[in-house]
Amino acid sequence: MKIDSFEEIFRDVKRVLVVMAHPDDMELICGGTVARLIATGRKVRSVVMTNGGKGMQNRIDVTENDFGKIRVGEQMAAGKALGIPDDENFNLNIPDGELEPSIENIEKIAFYIRQFKPDIVISQNPKEILVRFSDSSRWVNHRDHRNAGLVTWDAVYPYSRDRGFFPKHFGREGLAPHIVNYILFSDAYSDSSVKYFDVTSFIDKRKNALLQYKSSLSEQEVNDLMDEIKDGDGYFEPLGYTDQLF
Ligand SMILES: [Zn+2]
Repeated sequence: MKIDSFEEIFRDVKRVLVVMAHPDDMELICGGTVARLIATGRKVRSVVMTNGGKGMQNRIDVTENDFGKIRVGEQMAAGKALGIPDDENFNLNIPDGELEPSIENIEKIAFYIRQFKPDIVISQNPKEILVRFSDSSRWVNHRDHRNAGLVTWDAVYPYSRDRGFFPKHFGREGLAPHIVNYILFSDAYSDSSVKYFDVTSFIDKRKNALLQYKSSLSEQEVNDLMDEIKDGDGYFEPLGYTDQLF
């Protein structure tokens, strides 16, 4: 049985910012952990960078733009299923597959960090291209995932921390440089830093959130995804961890 790190990592945490590339990434990576954070009184804000419009794959009955709107609607429904209200659930509407690690995108995430002032940021793995989940299961980490991670890690340091970056933020009420000391990140199953979060009591919420993504996931696929994080009688979500950055 895996060891639950929830108390160790989140004991003094009040605010968690989750930045992901696509609608459904958060629910797949840490939906149960988000539900547990909210149930234990933490504030969680979700920022999804792209609209997921190319997830239509081979369908020709819908345009990318319309499919993106469906995906963002599903993002909002899934957020609600985990306890995130619409006004804490954002989509930057970047075209799917076109997420660049640009200074413009770093500025957008630095803005959310300075505005929301999170204690921890959860995002994606900026460096692994070939992700190994187990000896028999591995996959190519989507470019948008890597770039969402890269943009977010850069936004944490130095761009939101240091006053010299994006001084236009400080003209707006309440914004100031902000230090994020910890990052949790996806696709780090073989990383020595990996922590496990026991979501057994929140598994129904995780499943219900994933079921909102009707355009991309069948009920069978959702059930298979639940099995992937099963360990004995429990369910555990794995995330890499930076430990204290500053
Ligand atoms: Zn994705």
